[in-house]
Amino acid sequence: MDPQWRRELIEELDQLKAREQLRTLSVAEAAVEPWLKLNGRRMLNMASNNYLGLAGDARLKDAAQSALEVYGAGATASRLIVGNHPLYEQAETALHAWKGNLPSQAGLILNSGYTANLGVICALVGRNDVVFSDRLNHASIVDGIVLSRAQHRRYRHNDLDHLESLLKKSTARRKLIVTDSVFSMDGDRADLAGLVALKERYRAMLMVDEAHSSGLYGPQGAGLVQSLGLQEQVEIQMGTFSKALGSLGAYIVGEKWLIDYLINHMRSFIYTTALPPATLGSIIAAIELVQRKAERRIQLWEHTQYMRSELRQLGFELGSGDTQIIPIVIGSNERTVAFSLRLQEAGIAAIAVRPPTVPENQARLRLTVMATHQLRDLEWAVAQLAAVGRELGVIGR
Ligand SMILES: *Cc1c(COP(=O)(O)O)cnc(C)c1O
Repeated sequence: MDPQWRRELIEELDQLKAREQLRTLSVAEAAVEPWLKLNGRRMLNMASNNYLGLAGDARLKDAAQSALEVYGAGATASRLIVGNHPLYEQAETALHAWKGNLPSQAGLILNSGYTANLGVICALVGRNDVVFSDRLNHASIVDGIVLSRAQHRRYRHNDLDHLESLLKKSTARRKLIVTDSVFSMDGDRADLAGLVALKERYRAMLMVDEAHSSGLYGPQGAGLVQSLGLQEQVEIQMGTFSKALGSLGAYIVGEKWLIDYLINHMRSFIYTTALPPATLGSIIAAIELVQRKAERRIQLWEHTQYMRSELRQLGFELGSGDTQIIPIVIGSNERTVAFSLRLQEAGIAAIAVRPPTVPENQARLRLTVMATHQLRDLEWAVAQLAAVGRELGVIGR
């Protein structure tokens, strides 16, 4: 007899499929390039987070190779045991310098953005505390809050009046406000100055997740917090090396005591094997590159402006953002999946994002631009998007 649990779990998969929500894996080749191969077909890559094209950059690859040669393939242990190989010190010094070299601050490198968010939130708040979190924050933040057992107060997206009304009502001992800087599925930005004002008024901590802004904002690409001069007001700057910086891993920058506190309390730091030396090698090279070279950022913003203005003129609904993440909000899952499949046939890789990643009836296509796209590729993409958009009735004729 088929046990009940087995039937139930398989039934759930069938339901996902019926709702067009079943996720499946595709084989992506050459995904570090502006043109990739998806399931064997060549397509313009509008699906990756490799915004500056650094994942395929020879300097990152060389740095990874030499680190591998010198230090081996694996770290062999967690950082508090014997996994703290010399490249960590070099990478954290580079991180600290990149973030402004403030004597009161330090940086800590972690294995991934997901585990960084989980670990930091759990280390800083617990059962008697409250976390105020933007409704559209990344899933890793949500999971961190749930795991911390703190009260979870979600405020409406970018709605600081709503946040303030929640802060006013709260009698909790310890309050943490947490936000994405650039929202990963909407491509808009948080009002960081407004959040700083509120966290000061209500004596809360503020944590900003720069996963989609590290490497992109400010004269040295140090992120949105730094570009606004708020690095001493934001207690916890979190970011990743996995997107614009082309590699893997995450960081926290904050006051020195905070870093010491995390080293002693953050379970996703303590109980996991350190990053392999090759990854640290590419992280060091990436920090150096984004710090010194603005050309790729300039190109990315040119491409972003071009795509956004062309798509808006065609009548696509893009929301209110101005970043390299360009959502085309469609609504129904079926139409969004159809749009994505038709684009793939036309030669564009752009992903359909469906609930629960976004709210119900807000399924969308998520396009990202890269510094390494050619303008003529983007012109071609606009023509394809217009044709498929008209065919499916997403825009008028
Ligand atoms: C991608 C992302 C993460 C997770 O980072 P990884 O390094 O991929 O684990 C965390 N926060 C936000 C906002 C993200 O977009």
